Amino acid sequence: MGIEKPAVCGGEPVRDTKLFYGHQYIDEADIQAVVDVLKSDYLTCGPKIGELEKKLCEVTGARYAVVCSNGTAALHMACMAAGIGPGDEVVTTPITFAASANCALYCGARPVFADICEDTYNIDPKSVSERIGEKTKAVVAVDFTGQSVQLDELLAVCREKGLVLIEDGAHVIGTKYKGRPNGSIADMTTFSFHPVKTVTGGEGGAVLTNSEDYYQKLLLYRSHGITRNEDLMEGRPEGGWYYEQVGLGYNYRMTDMQAALIISQLDKLPLFSKRRKEIVERYNEAFSRLPQIAVQKEIPESDTTRHLYILRLVPEKLKIGRKEFFDALAAENICCNVHYIPTYYFPYYQKMRYRKGICPKAEKLYEEIISLPLYYAMTDRDVEDVIRAVAKIAGYYGRE
Ligand SMILES: *Cc1c(COP(=O)(O)O)cnc(C)c1O
Repeated sequence: MGIEKPAVCGGEPVRDTKLFYGHQYIDEADIQAVVDVLKSDYLTCGPKIGELEKKLCEVTGARYAVVCSNGTAALHMACMAAGIGPGDEVVTTPITFAASANCALYCGARPVFADICEDTYNIDPKSVSERIGEKTKAVVAVDFTGQSVQLDELLAVCREKGLVLIEDGAHVIGTKYKGRPNGSIADMTTFSFHPVKTVTGGEGGAVLTNSEDYYQKLLLYRSHGITRNEDLMEGRPEGGWYYEQVGLGYNYRMTDMQAALIISQLDKLPLFSKRRKEIVERYNEAFSRLPQIAVQKEIPESDTTRHLYILRLVPEKLKIGRKEFFDALAAENICCNVHYIPTYYFPYYQKMRYRKGICPKAEKLYEEIISLPLYYAMTDRDVEDVIRAVAKIAGYYGRE
């Protein structure tokens, strides 16, 4: 066969149509579920909300679920329920979407960044320990790519120091840690139902917890701090219309259309999970043969449904950098992404005087990564196209 010429150098692309890094999968049952709600009496605050919350408890084993408008709102509500406020610090990872740190800022607290484990890319419990101080109130740990963080180690650190462990599980739905679904283990776990995530509602989020106390607080924050629960009122109900605002909350509610869509999508979670695992296995098998590529390490405790597949380049083995590799893939019609730019690199964080260099492993990772297409509806042909494109570019630009 010889060495094929990459499309960036004038060769033939591996495919004619563009393949994107993520895409939702919506079937007729999903569409019907939404239509049924539209024909019903309730578009919001209706029966689909409780139904979804019950289903999320079944799927995760958590005692309580509170669904909300998106994953960012879920993180904000979790931070509020944890009692985070001005002067507090919250330890999190920089290799995540900005919301994992912004949620601390919403509460007037300061995010503190801990470094990652070199080979799993998840937050390193040792680094978390080192960055805990007098003001630390909580840890927001992100199950990056869908692989569970080291929950036992993180819980041990949090218990010892009296901190709340919030798991940003935007990537983790479908994953199990030591045989238990993520969502039932940390003090609170948040989910996102954005269309690139494994299960979607268009937009949507949830907080899962086993704590009755957090649960009651989350219900209040979701809806203006207003309650109809007599036990939570300061006065006595004056009649059937009566409710009280007992705290300051938001409108973070989800619509019944979203809830119905997510319920219908959750029916397909085992299928989604299975297909994602198959694709990851095929990628791992192919890329572990390429010296130019490092494969993400999997910890045995995590039975992972992967949301993202990260291609990590080995710079010493390549004549080109990440940008050139990314562009070469695009020329092959493999349209990738990068997850993530370290949060504190953003101008907003730089203005708050976060210095570069505070998380060297995370910063090195960022220079070397590309997120490859990974989603349920990818065909075997799509998967092989990605593998051929990566192998072609790695081979052409490889060095001994
Ligand atoms: C998507 C995502 C969020 C935010 O979720 P939204 O539903 O988009 O608000 C938070 N954290 C991580 C790690 C995410 O990937």
